[in-house]
Amino acid sequence: MKIIFHNIFHNMKKFLIFIGPPGSGKGTQAKKVSAKYGYKHVSTGDLLRNMINRTDLTDEEKVIINDSIQLGKLAPDWFILKLVFNVIEENIFGQGVVFDGAIRTVNQAEELQNYLEKKALEKEFLAVAIMISDEEAFARLTKRRVCEACQEIIPWVGKAKDYIKCPKCGGNLKIRHDDNEEVIKDRIDRQGSVALQPIVDYYKNLNKLKIVDGMGTIEEVEVEVDRAIKS
Ligand code: AMP
Repeated sequence: MKIIFHNIFHNMKKFLIFIGPPGSGKGTQAKKVSAKYGYKHVSTGDLLRNMINRTDLTDEEKVIINDSIQLGKLAPDWFILKLVFNVIEENIFGQGVVFDGAIRTVNQAEELQNYLEKKALEKEFLAVAIMISDEEAFARLTKRRVCEACQEIIPWVGKAKDYIKCPKCGGNLKIRHDDNEEVIKDRIDRQGSVALQPIVDYYKNLNKLKIVDGMGTIEEVEVEVDRAIKS
């Protein structure tokens, strides 16, 4: 009841899509919205990662998942849209959903818009773009660290840059070994602010976009995200 009250009170849309370059903090902010307002958090990247160990995949699906998780290539639109439509279908009468990274091509945005119109849900939708420069994305992704003991990720932002030990458990911090510079460069080429611009323009033209400056601290960005989704 409290959750429904929150959404009605704040006039928040039921389906929020957070877009942004890798390292923009869209996942972090989506988790905050989920915790504060009872929205379901759906990261398409996590959905793909969780499929890695499934034994019922076709060879085509295995290649798609490997290419996206190991090499940073985009998964095909049809594959992602199937996941996204399923989640919407399951939640039409349920809780709100905050999608994190679910839209990364203009075609995905168009197909989703068609789907929402067909289902008469287009008024229940808002895109929030959390923007950082490609240079900032590269720095954040190559310099963020992970705690060897508890696996907490220490982002390369604000005061966390100066941590010597894990703020949660005191463990040693190291650079994430999967943060290979070549793969990161490639991901930013494909998914950075330049690549995102046509999607940003698409939602701007539809009047369904809020832009948030993602260059600040996590707390500063959170304030802006809150303002964006409640206005
Ligand atoms: P993330 O953890 O959000 O960076 O996602 C991990 C990987 O999953 C990305 O590098 C992409 O290869 C793939 N992926 C996630 N969402 C999408 C999407 N909407 N379209 C295409 N590929 C995606």
